[in-house]
Amino acid sequence: MATIHGTEEDRVNCPFYFKTGTCRHGDRCSRLHHKPAFSQTLLIPHFYDTNPQNSATYNTNQQQSTTSPQEHLWEFFEDAFMELSKYGTVVELHVIDNVSDHMVGNVYVKYRDEEEAATAQQALQGRYYDGRLLNQVEFCPVLDFREARCREFDEEVCKRGGFCNFLHIKPIPMPLIRSLEEDCEEQRRQQARDRKRHHRHDEDEEDEDRRRAKKKRKEHKSSSKKRSKKHHNRSSSKEREEDSSSSSDSDDQKGD
Ligand SMILES: [Zn+2]
Ligand SMILES: [Zn+2]
Repeated sequence: MATIHGTEEDRVNCPFYFKTGTCRHGDRCSRLHHKPAFSQTLLIPHFYDTNPQNSATYNTNQQQSTTSPQEHLWEFFEDAFMELSKYGTVVELHVIDNVSDHMVGNVYVKYRDEEEAATAQQALQGRYYDGRLLNQVEFCPVLDFREARCREFDEEVCKRGGFCNFLHIKPIPMPLIRSLEEDCEEQRRQQARDRKRHHRHDEDEEDEDRRRAKKKRKEHKSSSKKRSKKHHNRSSSKEREEDSSSSSDSDDQKGD
């Protein structure tokens, strides 16, 4: 360690940060953490409360006291999925099972595009969720979770347990994910329909305003026509046209 400290070898990317978006050394890591300025993926540290008894709903609702850890996870997943979908299309959502300080309760959300992720980042950063402050919600370099996740955990044979440096992603039943995706898709379609209807309504109002204004102008014109002579108006407008065309010609010459 001492031999590479401060040398060229020291300046390589941290493999853990590069692959998982997190590293136990944090900002004190001797290797580089390339934090992306934009990404489709956000890391929301400690978003998931691993202890169901800390949850606000647990304390206010007696019925919740029988909630199993699995139900607690599924409820959170459902709630988080719907909440995060307000900012865009959630492509992937992962709740982490690791227990080390820098990973416990971490949640990764991947959006369809970087703009959606940026909107979510702005909205979530500094907000409270279930009594917990969401802090350091950041863009994450992980786009492909196959590289980030611990395969041994998926096969239930990881010997490092909760202190493993690769992601132990809590398993979520596929039918639950599919039904959430469908709900969100339906919501988006509904919102699009509402917007369209709203838009059309606005247009109707605009049309009405325009008709009223036109009618007013017409009334005004017909009354002024009576006062002034037609041919006089026409000749003055022709003069104005000639004026403007000659001035634009001279502008062109100036431009050259
Ligand atoms: Zn590192
Ligand atoms: Zn592992």
